[in-house]
Amino acid sequence: SREFTSPIGQLAGMANMLQSGVASAERTFELLDAEEQSEDDTTGALPAHTDGHVEFEHVTFSYNEETSLIEDLSFEAEPGHTVAIVGPTGAGKSTLVNLVMRFYELQGGRILLDGTDITTVPRQELRSKVGMVLQDAWLFEGTIRDNIRYGRLDATDEEVIAAAQATFVDRFVRQLPDGYDTILDDAGSNVSAGEKQLITIARAFLASPSLLILDEATSSVDTRTELLVQQAMAALRTDRTSFVIAHRLSTIRDANTILVMESGRIVEQGSHESLLKQRGAYYNLYMSQFSGGHELEESSDPLAFDA
Ligand code: ADP
Repeated sequence: SREFTSPIGQLAGMANMLQSGVASAERTFELLDAEEQSEDDTTGALPAHTDGHVEFEHVTFSYNEETSLIEDLSFEAEPGHTVAIVGPTGAGKSTLVNLVMRFYELQGGRILLDGTDITTVPRQELRSKVGMVLQDAWLFEGTIRDNIRYGRLDATDEEVIAAAQATFVDRFVRQLPDGYDTILDDAGSNVSAGEKQLITIARAFLASPSLLILDEATSSVDTRTELLVQQAMAALRTDRTSFVIAHRLSTIRDANTILVMESGRIVEQGSHESLLKQRGAYYNLYMSQFSGGHELEESSDPLAFDA
C-alpha cells in the first residue's frame, strides 16, 4: 500500500490550512503570508508577464543543521516545459517544489523565476504566479460555479464555463439537475472524488498561472474518472511550465525533462529516451515500477514510483 503525502501537507503546523489543493495560490497564502510578513521586507518585483522560466543555481537546502538534504542542485526548466520529478518516498520531491514556492529559505544558491531571484520579491507576489493542484481536492461549500471562479475572482461566467469545458468538468456538470448552480455540500458528497479533482483543475485552468505545481498522486480518485483527470491535467500543463511530482508513466514519458531524485540529489536528468539508454537509476525504476511499461500503461491503476 502506498503512503500519500502532499508537499503542502508536510509543512509543519500548517497542514490543515494548506491541504487545500487550491489553484491560485494568492488567496490561500494570505494567512501564511501574514505570519511571514515580518521577515519579508523585499521590495523587488517580478515582470508583469512571467514566462515560467525557472532556474535552480547550486541550490543547497536542509530542514535542520545536522543534515543537508539538497546539495548543490542545478537545473533549468524552459518556459512551457513539463518537468517530471520521480524517485522513492523521501527522495526530496516535495521539498524541491516547496522551495520554488519559497516555503523555506535556501542555505545556498539561488532559484530564479524569469531571471529574478525569488528571494527579492514578496512571497505573495511569487505565489500569485504559481498554481497548485494537489491530491486532496479542496472545495468550499458553495456552487460549482463559485468553486471554479475561486481561481480568478473577476472571471465572467463564460470564462468559468470555458475553463470547465477544457478540463472535462462541463460534461458532468450538465448532467446535474442544477448544473453550475449545484451546491457542493461540506463533504462534497454529491460529486465523486474524481469530479472534485476535476473542479480544482478547472479552477487552476481559470487562474492561468505561468507556473504549475502538480502532485499526481491518485489516491482519492475513482478509476472511472482517472483517465479524465489525467487528460485535464495534460490540458492544464499545455504551454505552462509545470513541475509534476509524477506517478503516471504517460506523464513521465511525455515530460520534457525528468528529474530522478534519490536522497535529496538529482541523480539523473533528461528525457525518457535518453535516461533509458543510460541504464542507470531511471532505467531501474522504470523496470521495477512499470514492468517495462507495456501492460501497465493502459491500465487504470495509479502507477507509482513510491512503493
Ligand atoms: P518525497 O516528496 O520525495 O517523498 P520529501 O521532500 O517529502 O520527499 O522529503 C525528503 C526528506 O526530507 C525526507 O527525509 C523527509 O523526512 C524530510 N522532510 C520533509 N519535510 C520535512 C520537514 N518539514 N521537516 C523536516 N524534515 C522534513
